Amino acid sequence: MTLLDGKKTSEAIQQEIAAEVAELKAGGARAPHLAAILVGNDGGSVTYVNNKVLACERVGFASSLFHYEDTITEAELLNKIEALNQDDAIDGFIVQLPLPKHIDPEKVLEAIDPQKDVDGFHPMNVGRMVAGLPAYLPATPAGILQLLERYKIETSGKHCVVIGRSNIVGSPMSILMAKSAYPGNCTVTICHSRTVDLPSYTRQADIIIAAIGKPEFVTADMVKEGVVVIDVGTTRVPDASRKSGFRLKGDVNFDEVAPKSSFITPVPGGVGPLTIAMLLKNTLKAAKKEVYA
Ligand code: NAP
Repeated sequence: MTLLDGKKTSEAIQQEIAAEVAELKAGGARAPHLAAILVGNDGGSVTYVNNKVLACERVGFASSLFHYEDTITEAELLNKIEALNQDDAIDGFIVQLPLPKHIDPEKVLEAIDPQKDVDGFHPMNVGRMVAGLPAYLPATPAGILQLLERYKIETSGKHCVVIGRSNIVGSPMSILMAKSAYPGNCTVTICHSRTVDLPSYTRQADIIIAAIGKPEFVTADMVKEGVVVIDVGTTRVPDASRKSGFRLKGDVNFDEVAPKSSFITPVPGGVGPLTIAMLLKNTLKAAKKEVYA
């Protein structure tokens, strides 16, 4: 069994980005600039956004954080988005989800200029991804592709079972794994909460990508020997022994499944660190105008 080390892979990608940024700056260009909009004070969201800002500093990007109280109106938020769309000093920006209930996330995501949509959630980028056109890929699926590629995992002709069909992970992942490219060329099955007899699918899988949000959902009896396991799940479970009061659990019962796997991601330290690296990579692409040339 080989552990897919997301932390090490993410550091390698960030070093590559930092080297490219240094080269751009040496050539007289300004630093790529990522902005983030955060609404409210949800503990997870604050941590994620702060980590993104810190990562920007590490690779030599400029970053801006716009933090609003959750009393901000939808109209005020849409105005801010339009201002960032128009701001030539900002290459890309993200709106951290989830948003308070009185704000329609679809409206917000569609208001972002697709050329600055470095999260890859705008329907224009989703459509371009499906059509095989250059697009900002959503960061988590893009990070998983990087892991598969950098560990040289064979995907062609394999049966990939994706569990979960969200717009940010499961659905794009299923599309990308079926594409005529490497990593890809898989026969893909997508499972969700209405799937009948889910283990009958996972037992046939050469590659399992679990993005459900249910701790230790995938157990040893649900997988075959030699399976490649990508565990996207990150659920906070209470843990009184930790200062934070919680620890992160994946969707896979790691202790049981790892011995049967050929490759497996740990949680934490697997897919999570790649997500930030791929957001930075998209921002670099935005600064270099690579996607919408
Ligand atoms: P989500 O929007 O809640 O979607 C969960 C999906 O899992 C849904 O499609 C749901 O099916 C399916 N599901 C739920 N219970 C199921 C069951 N018992 N059997 C089969 N399918 C089931 O979640 P998400 O945003 O995709 O995130 C999934 C997990 O990944 C979460 O733990 C999240 O924290 C984590 N995540 C991690 C990263 C990272 O960077 N590591 C990034 C994003 C998300 P239905 O569609 O039928 O409801």
